[in-house]
Amino acid sequence: MDDCLFCKIIAGEIPSKKVYEDDRVYAFYDIDPQAPIHFLVIPKQHITGANKIDATNGDLVGHAFQVIAQITKELGCGDDYRVVTNCGPKAGQSVNHLHFHVLAGRELGWPPG
Ligand code: AMP
Ligand code: ZN
Repeated sequence: MDDCLFCKIIAGEIPSKKVYEDDRVYAFYDIDPQAPIHFLVIPKQHITGANKIDATNGDLVGHAFQVIAQITKELGCGDDYRVVTNCGPKAGQSVNHLHFHVLAGRELGWPPG
């Protein structure tokens, strides 16, 4: 999508601090970290949000979680991390390209705000 911030990051048109990349997903550090480790995992396919996950693209979600398990090990997060996806403006979604926040490195309170 021409006007999508995360599609531009995938294309290299906007700089990012890459954590991981393969043919299906791209991972990069969040510009406004909410924990000592905070990165985003996004599908390279433009999917606007979690509410658009369906039988045609759902395999990407499993792949994203496999990648998250791998990256968190490599970054030394141990088994303590949180994966969050905000869907819709009332839930805090500000970029309309599906993304999984991965937060680690501190105690994480529950419930979230
Ligand atoms: P959300 O608010 O759940 O849609 O998450 C969007 C996230 O993207 C926020 O945590 C932002 O800090 C992050 N973000 C926005 N612009 C950039 C950027 N250029 N590079 C890295 N992260 C970004
Ligand atoms: Zn996009």
